Amino acid sequence: MYMQDKFKSGFVALIGRPNVGKSTLLNAMVGEKVAIVSPKPQTTRSRLMGVVKLENAQIVFLDTPGIHRAKNKLGEYMMQSVEAALSGIDALCIMLDVTDVRQQDHAIAKQYTGLSVPIYLLLNKIDRLIPQEILPIIDEFSGYNFKAILPISAIKNDGVAELLSILEEAMPQGPKYFPDDMMTDQPERVIIAELIREKALLYLQEEVPHGVGIEILKIEQLNDSLSEIQATIYCEKDSHKRIIIGKQGSMIKKIGSGARREIETLLGHQVHLDLWVKVRPNWRNSQADLRTLGYTEGN
Ligand code: GDP
Ligand code: MG
Repeated sequence: MYMQDKFKSGFVALIGRPNVGKSTLLNAMVGEKVAIVSPKPQTTRSRLMGVVKLENAQIVFLDTPGIHRAKNKLGEYMMQSVEAALSGIDALCIMLDVTDVRQQDHAIAKQYTGLSVPIYLLLNKIDRLIPQEILPIIDEFSGYNFKAILPISAIKNDGVAELLSILEEAMPQGPKYFPDDMMTDQPERVIIAELIREKALLYLQEEVPHGVGIEILKIEQLNDSLSEIQATIYCEKDSHKRIIIGKQGSMIKKIGSGARREIETLLGHQVHLDLWVKVRPNWRNSQADLRTLGYTEGN
């Protein structure tokens, strides 16, 4: 850690309803896929960090699970991760989806604009509206104590550079908290498990993907160009297990080859990926199971 005269740094939490695009924005800012993304709500289960390196600043973003009413211990853990992300921050970004503004966005605005740090409202997914449709949304939220309201498109990288320079401005002078080559606090093993879960979320329907948890059993680099990875996909019911395996293994094959491609990009070499499916009834309500699957306090 070193302190340079004009170097600025700080922590910025990113919160909002599920599915508004928080993890997409985190990846866009970091420039690498550190968080998984899916069209299903509650994709992100833990707080995770993305480090953004600027010329004279370092901004550490904290991506969080979408704010929702917890229905099980996993949900409670997720909401604790949101609260934990808010302590010690230097700025807060609240995000909403301009194509789907709800009462709960107002509830979140009301609840969190009391914090004593600069708070920004990010209006995401503007690629899906025309400018005239965005103005009334800006009006609708102008009564809260936002330092600025910024229309962006995380997926098109639109407005992201502007957001970064506004945040850089707001950061206090401070040290470089993390080395330049560190983009996230997620260990490789966790990112690999997440990439498998991302494909499960993508291909599975209804309640099946929400009951999925991944345990990595083995990661072994066999040589310069090949790693062997074994993982278990946990689900909550026998009927879900059948769906995850699919007809003659077609679904597990699809999840596996999608995940394998992503993991190969991450590791920069070939991967043999073996997946198993196991039933672990009601794991989302078991403290011990949550721990095995990596959902423990401090994340
Ligand atoms: P999170 O739950 O808030 O982290 O949201 P995700 O980042 O997982 O994104 C949820 C869905 O919204 C995914 O299907 C993304 O591809 C999509 N999405 C995110 N940002 C944008 C955007 O700027 N425009 C559009 N059209 N879709 C987006
Ligand atoms: Mg997310």
